[in-house]
Amino acid sequence: MFKVNDYFGRLQGSYLFTEIAHRVNAYTKENPDKEIIRLGIGDVTRPLAPAVLQAIDAATREMSDAKTFMGYGPEQGYEFLRAAIRENDYLARGVEIGLDEIFVSDGSKCDTGNIQELLSADCKIGVTDPVYPVYVDTNVMAGRSGEFDAAKGEFTEITYIPTTAENGFVPALPERRVDVMYLCSPNNPTGTAMTKEQLKVWVDWANETGALILFDGAYEHFITDENVPHSIYEIDGAKTCAVEFRSFSKTAGFTGTRCAYTVIPKELAGENSRGEKVSLNAMWLRRHSTKFNGVSYIVQRGAAAVYTEEGKKQIDETIAFYLENAKIIREGLGRIGITAYGGVNSPYVWLKTPNGMKSWDFFDKLLTEANVVGTPGSGFGSAGEGYFRLTAFNTRENTEKAISRLANLK
Ligand code: PLP
Repeated sequence: MFKVNDYFGRLQGSYLFTEIAHRVNAYTKENPDKEIIRLGIGDVTRPLAPAVLQAIDAATREMSDAKTFMGYGPEQGYEFLRAAIRENDYLARGVEIGLDEIFVSDGSKCDTGNIQELLSADCKIGVTDPVYPVYVDTNVMAGRSGEFDAAKGEFTEITYIPTTAENGFVPALPERRVDVMYLCSPNNPTGTAMTKEQLKVWVDWANETGALILFDGAYEHFITDENVPHSIYEIDGAKTCAVEFRSFSKTAGFTGTRCAYTVIPKELAGENSRGEKVSLNAMWLRRHSTKFNGVSYIVQRGAAAVYTEEGKKQIDETIAFYLENAKIIREGLGRIGITAYGGVNSPYVWLKTPNGMKSWDFFDKLLTEANVVGTPGSGFGSAGEGYFRLTAFNTRENTEKAISRLANLK
């Protein structure tokens, strides 16, 4: 009989969202007249911008005519999109990134998972805790996690670095060997962001120890704070130690349309088993063109429209709308004496549960007393215990209603 990958057996069940659905269903069955407001949504809710739609529409028409029809495109992405990315996301911020350092893909989820194919099986992985679960689970599948320690709620070979109110949500440098560190700023789930100075500490550490930083900037467009870098390459030295992931998902409502990109500078090299330097950019190009046939022309045209004058304006309006929701949540929580973090450079508000309540107890309280659903922080890692995530992706009306209901919490 053929053998399967044993490491899949180490994966822990996706307990979080299943359990949320289970508790909400049980409650609504008992209380069918109650109107539930969901502030747990991790997906955008506003439609694609008109400029994006126009571009998609025009591209679709091109596909319907043999003279303008497009077949397979370049695996790395069309130059028109990579040039727009380079110009707007990098050169405009004083960062020199080459066209051949940008790889267009269908999502940061895939990219953050797939990137490990370039890494040796014995690389030691580090994550912040709480964490976007994809970083951990993809490494479990690849056999880098070690066994799951149920008492700790952690895998033995993964280094978890707590980010809590005590350290201002800034991860301390690891105390044991880490070869590959995932950093996400602005962060999901804490909604907090690292400043240039804080990120510089990590870049210096990576260059000194020969580690790789996998920098996830999926929420870059929500940054409002001047001291928060939009790209890790704004930090000196990052090109020799960091890969950056960006996505149109949260930036421009592409969660269902699918487009993202990864930047791998030419300077970035790892070492093979013979001690020779190998370019990660060359490896990723090889992988991408071997295993991926590109994002559809239509979608790439839509993504490029994000960078037009009209597109930028429309997208900024949507982001401002979400950020206003986040502000309403943050300030509403403040008025009832609940300490909240994030929500300034991010659509996520991360609150400290009152009176040291466990995350799931607070979930039940919110569900039954206010009919509001959020996400228990403990579901993102053990350091998330005692925290709770609310998101800004609902309508203004529902967000306001949810907050006024919270005011009546006992
Ligand atoms: N990275 C983080 C931190 C996320 O929160 C998400 C989506 O929720 C993603 C990546 C996924 O992005 P994409 O839609 O491009 O796959």
